[in-house]
Amino acid sequence: MLVVGGGIVGLCNALALQRAGYRVSLIDRGTPGRETSYGNAGVLSESSVAVLNSPGLLKALPKLLLGRSNGLRYSPLFVVKRLGWMLRFLSHCTPRHWRAAARALRELQVLSLAQHKDWIAEAGVQDLLRHGGWMKVFRSEASFAAYAAELALYDEVGVRYTVFDREQLRQIEPGLKPIYEKAVLFDDTCGVSNPAALTDAYLALFTAAGGIVVEGSVTSLRQHGNGWEVRFAGADDSVLNGDGVVLAAGAWTAEIARWLGYDLPLGWERGYHLHLAPADGPQLNRAVNDMDGGFVIAPMQQGVRITSGVELTDRDAPPDYKQIRTSVAMAREAHDMKAELETEPWMGRRPTMVDSLPVIGPAPRHRGLWFNFGHQHVGLSMAPGSALAITAMVDGTSPPLDTTPFRAERFSV
Ligand SMILES: Cc1cc2nc3c(=O)[nH]c(=O)nc-3n(C[C@H](O)[C@H](O)[C@H](O)COP(=O)(O)OP(=O)(O)OC[C@H]3O[C@@H](n4cnc5c(N)ncnc54)[C@H](O)[C@@H]3O)c2cc1C
Repeated sequence: MLVVGGGIVGLCNALALQRAGYRVSLIDRGTPGRETSYGNAGVLSESSVAVLNSPGLLKALPKLLLGRSNGLRYSPLFVVKRLGWMLRFLSHCTPRHWRAAARALRELQVLSLAQHKDWIAEAGVQDLLRHGGWMKVFRSEASFAAYAAELALYDEVGVRYTVFDREQLRQIEPGLKPIYEKAVLFDDTCGVSNPAALTDAYLALFTAAGGIVVEGSVTSLRQHGNGWEVRFAGADDSVLNGDGVVLAAGAWTAEIARWLGYDLPLGWERGYHLHLAPADGPQLNRAVNDMDGGFVIAPMQQGVRITSGVELTDRDAPPDYKQIRTSVAMAREAHDMKAELETEPWMGRRPTMVDSLPVIGPAPRHRGLWFNFGHQHVGLSMAPGSALAITAMVDGTSPPLDTTPFRAERFSV
């Protein structure tokens, strides 16, 4: 089997296929795990089930469009260029879709977290794994009150959480300054202190068991006989053959699928991070999401990582550091940190479908071609379960979860 794309999604897929007895080659145009999967906040979530296409988004839209939220920045020109995609995204802001998506994502995330824990143990990198949940914090009672619909959604799908007031928060996260009125702790969520080290550890598991990693940029896919031929430009050989191909190239997957005639409504939500040196006071025990500021503070091995919210612009437009600079300034209001550790922030692209659900399953018109992409804000969390699902389908066995919500056929492809 050939897997195209060595981010966390492709890598987990390669690992799961290998565990099921397949000979697997993983093709990436660079070092695996060094695109979007490199720079995230490290949250391994079983609770991130509330998709952005929420009924509440429609209400918040005027404020967002006026640029009054640090959590969302956008290029008006890009929005106009991609208006069709934007409108389709907004058309999913219904209570029905929100609840159905939450049920589907919950199942995928619970399955994934269990598999992450097993692979982390097997790879011997338990030191990377952090228990103790992840936390959303609110600067005012009003912003917490606006979160009530999400809490009801969590209740509905069985996500465990605890609400803390200002004084309780001071006790459990003494590293946070007293600017927050309320906090929601997702009790069972985990995290890693270095996402790149996690992908390196999974890659080591894969190669130690005979998995092949090929560096090359895929330029064509061709079905021949019962198998597939993949051409790529790069340092290694330029052609590989396999029984099947999994497309798991994150924000670049739709481009590749288009070569075979598939029009998949994939977008990208860009995001940034920057590390700061920890100060001498108490450090955070978990990743913390400032809901009013639209950023995350995540303690990492590299330093305190500040990650930004969403930037909507051309996938390959030059980076614009305004949003992450504002996020860092706001994060300093919440947590003491010393100097910035990099001169240039990192930037990545969250791959997002118009309905915020990943595509996991067979390509409708090509035998032996599989899609595994579009994991939006939670790809690190959902990669193992997606991998187990594809592997079962390749194997012809019954997947460990209901994959209907993730089928490519939900779009007219
Ligand atoms: C700021 C930020 C914070 C985040 N925080 C979290 C978090 O805390 N928890 C969480 O679960 N998720 C988080 N995410 C989301 C998560 O990082 C992504 O969903 C995930 O990394 C997507 O993984 P991927 O493998 O699909 O894509 P990528 O990691 O982008 O991998 C795609 C791979 O495909 C390769 N590729 C592309 N085109 C070709 C080609 N033609 N030929 C060969 N190879 C190709 C690329 O080189 C790349 O390695 C965050 C994202 C951002 C930006």
